[in-house]
Amino acid sequence: MKKKLKIRRKSETQIHVINSSTEWEQHYPTIISHLETCKVLGFDCEWVFDKKRCPVAMVQISTQQGFCLLVRTCKMASNIPETFKKLLADRSILKVGVASKDDGKKLQKDYGIVVRGCVDLRHMLGRIRGIYNCSSVGLQGLAAAVLGVNMAKEYGIRCGNWEADTLSTEQIDYAACDALVAVDIFTNLVLAKMLGRALQEDDIECVAITEAEFWKNASSFCQGLLDVLYKTKTARTLTSDSQYSEPQGAGAVNGKAKSKKHESRASCLNCCLLAPDGQLLCTSDVRKVEWYIHKGLADKLSDDPLTLKLKFEETSGPKPDLGYVQNNENICVVCGKSESYIKKFIIPKEYRKYFPTFLKVHTCDLLVMCLPCHQISCQHDSIFRQSLAKECDADTTSRSFQDHDLQKVRSAAKALLLNKPQIPEKRIDELESTVKDFYGIDSLTEELLQTATELDIKVNNPQFLPHGKKVVRHMRRNGGVLNFEKRCRQNFLNCMKPQYLPDIWTVDHNKCYVKQRNVQHHTAQ
Ligand SMILES: [Zn+2]
Repeated sequence: MKKKLKIRRKSETQIHVINSSTEWEQHYPTIISHLETCKVLGFDCEWVFDKKRCPVAMVQISTQQGFCLLVRTCKMASNIPETFKKLLADRSILKVGVASKDDGKKLQKDYGIVVRGCVDLRHMLGRIRGIYNCSSVGLQGLAAAVLGVNMAKEYGIRCGNWEADTLSTEQIDYAACDALVAVDIFTNLVLAKMLGRALQEDDIECVAITEAEFWKNASSFCQGLLDVLYKTKTARTLTSDSQYSEPQGAGAVNGKAKSKKHESRASCLNCCLLAPDGQLLCTSDVRKVEWYIHKGLADKLSDDPLTLKLKFEETSGPKPDLGYVQNNENICVVCGKSESYIKKFIIPKEYRKYFPTFLKVHTCDLLVMCLPCHQISCQHDSIFRQSLAKECDADTTSRSFQDHDLQKVRSAAKALLLNKPQIPEKRIDELESTVKDFYGIDSLTEELLQTATELDIKVNNPQFLPHGKKVVRHMRRNGGVLNFEKRCRQNFLNCMKPQYLPDIWTVDHNKCYVKQRNVQHHTAQ
């Protein structure tokens, strides 16, 4: 059975510090089991910098599932486990990070450990420009741009003593974070490529892609990027590595594999959630349903299909919207395909979140679409969004602007790090004093320059109002939110011409609910 790709939540991590080969062997099987289908590790190294670089003190690796090992090479220099070396030398297991190839070279120089399968995340980012734009050369900048995460690197910890007998909690968190974030960025970039857009928070729940399919896409994404140094600009094209030469385009599946895929896929959304009176509330994926069991909120009625009955009457909480009761049909509402699918909010979330509460909970309007249809639909959304921006005068300000002084410091540091040999001496002095003045210090280290290249130069704009808020405010004054909701649905119908909509789904399927609510209001008064 094909496993569904699990997008890790931030809290799902397990970190182990490895001080000896015995400890390594204890955790090695877990690592290997996580690499069964998706062969990728977040990868990073730390070392002490004392006038010059000391040997690598620690190698951090993390699986997609958030299992992270901090391997303290400084503690076992003469006794580095063979299985560890084998893992790093295995080219079919990707080691993703920022400057991972450079880290690999350091390990080879210090310990004779060969690292193969390095993929620099910046190369990957370069292949999907237009989805994420990020000029930063550091992991911190990438994390902000791709994951929206502020890693808040502390200079003190970065330069901390990685060879200390015992690492502090801060050091452990900091080091693990680098590997975890690296593998998360990798997952996001591959999914963004598959979806044709940036990943959103909802996608953790909504995206249903098998591990196998994810990996197929990841492999073709990384073609030609293996063990290529960043900045070399050689742009090596497709190497003859058979493992990474699967045909592009996910459509090419033979009939047999297709039907098998269908079976496993169906079971993902096949779980039924029943109200206490036995009425079907919605079909859901395993994870959501398991959450109800875990919280003791539901009883399991059967295993196949997994069916739960809620223990309580959901009176105040959000009820699953009727539009989403698609009786186990895990097929694209547009074209009827049952390949990988993704759920889509027909009323985009950026608008829905400003709807009045009573409407908000009844407007979930999640429909299932295959990836290609979803992608087309998102393109139509952005056209629709543009026309709304014009209509509602809703796109004039931006959330932040750039601080020119900080920008100057950042570009000075970048120039010094990347192009120093080409810069005239006088100019070097100028650039150096820009950075020195900013930090109020007399001498510069490479580490500090690196930190300066990752400065966050954005300043919040106090006048900023989100596009969604402006649009909804405009709509409330001009025709009302219900009409706007109808318009979003109509736009979806016009653009996508869905052929497989659930019977109950209509452009105004909230109407009866709103009517009923008004009646209740009147009787209450
Ligand atoms: Zn479709």
